[in-house]
Amino acid sequence: MPRRFEVVEEDCIGCGLCSERAPENFEIPTGTSVAQVLKQPETSAEEEACLEACDYCPMGGLHAGAADSPPAEKPAGPAPPTLTPAGDSTPADVTPTRLES
Ligand code: SF4
Repeated sequence: MPRRFEVVEEDCIGCGLCSERAPENFEIPTGTSVAQVLKQPETSAEEEACLEACDYCPMGGLHAGAADSPPAEKPAGPAPPTLTPAGDSTPADVTPTRLES
């Protein structure tokens, strides 16, 4: 039985990679910037496409669980890293600190 997939809305940036990889299963509704599950995969090909979409999601916003699993809760953890412009490897708000021995 194929796995069950879901979008964690708080993590989705609406990039559309999931709907490109698995258009039968994910979409970004017109006027929104958050992906949603159109339907759970029903074939191994659709499941494969959904797993690929999970791999491509830059925010880790797609979750795959067992077919009979309950909806996943948002995992506790650190906030995603802040992107910096190319060539700017030092964020402006970082101040060097001195470690006490
Ligand atoms: S690939 Fe991830 S971040 Fe991009 S639209 Fe899909 S769920 Fe959202």
